[in-house]
Amino acid sequence: MNRLQDRVAVVTGAGSGIGLATARRLSSEGARVVCADIDEQAGKAAAEATGGLFVHVDVTDEAAVRRMYEEAHAAYGRIDIAFNNAGISPPDDDSILTTGLDAWRRVQEVNLTSVFLCCKYVIPYMQRQGKGSIINTASFVAVMGAATSQISYTASKGGVLAMSRELGVQFAREGIRVNALCPGPVNTPLLKELFAKDPERAARRLVHVPAGRFAEPEEIASAVAFLAGDDSSFVNAAEFLVDGGIAGAYVTPE
Ligand code: NAD
Repeated sequence: MNRLQDRVAVVTGAGSGIGLATARRLSSEGARVVCADIDEQAGKAAAEATGGLFVHVDVTDEAAVRRMYEEAHAAYGRIDIAFNNAGISPPDDDSILTTGLDAWRRVQEVNLTSVFLCCKYVIPYMQRQGKGSIINTASFVAVMGAATSQISYTASKGGVLAMSRELGVQFAREGIRVNALCPGPVNTPLLKELFAKDPERAARRLVHVPAGRFAEPEEIASAVAFLAGDDSSFVNAAEFLVDGGIAGAYVTPE
């Protein structure tokens, strides 16, 4: 299906995981994809795989974010979809009792300030077009608490959720939709490695997932494709959970 024919999408964090799967999916639906990443090798590989354009960006750098959209617009003449997805979850972001200010600030910068910058600089393009879809990657931890805390990560995703809602409301009458995507845990290489080493850690989490497994990146990408295109034309300012039922669960099946 070519539901995104001739749409132009900018994907941050396109080099890996959810971003990579989404760049592939959007391109398979006909979109021209700008693959932005701080990791040059991974970003270039994503651009090659999707026939798109690689833009090197550190999403915490204001000038670089502005340039990313300038390059996208110069190459393709419009920007229809912004998937603001780059994010980190480093091991030194842990319990509030042990997490230092440096780790707190780094995670806030990469996960939250980046989304502020990406929205700030893409919205004017969409205003001129009178149309656009912004999808910001939050997380299911923005809507529920975990005793296995990553305190700055959780707070950053709560910020992404609230900011997305507000922007969706503010710009609704200009044809711009802004939604927060809230994935549950996803089978990315990092998670696989971590849980292969420590099956107990995986089991502690899996018991809370009604689906009984983690998501595959492609299952998150298909939700992004829906939010990006006109099939979701009345979905705005939403907390879009793609979590296998985690946030709705009390007791899960045995
Ligand atoms: P990933 O580590 O596989 O990919 C993240 C990409 O972002 C990498 O290519 C990395 O190079 C890039 N990146 C990191 N810092 C950057 C920066 N400063 N500037 C530009 N690019 C940068 O991660 P993922 O699991 O695919 O996660 C993607 C998003 O989904 C993140 O926002 C993450 O918080 C969120 N998320 C992930 C999960 C999960 O279980 N994997 C669950 C919920 C939400």
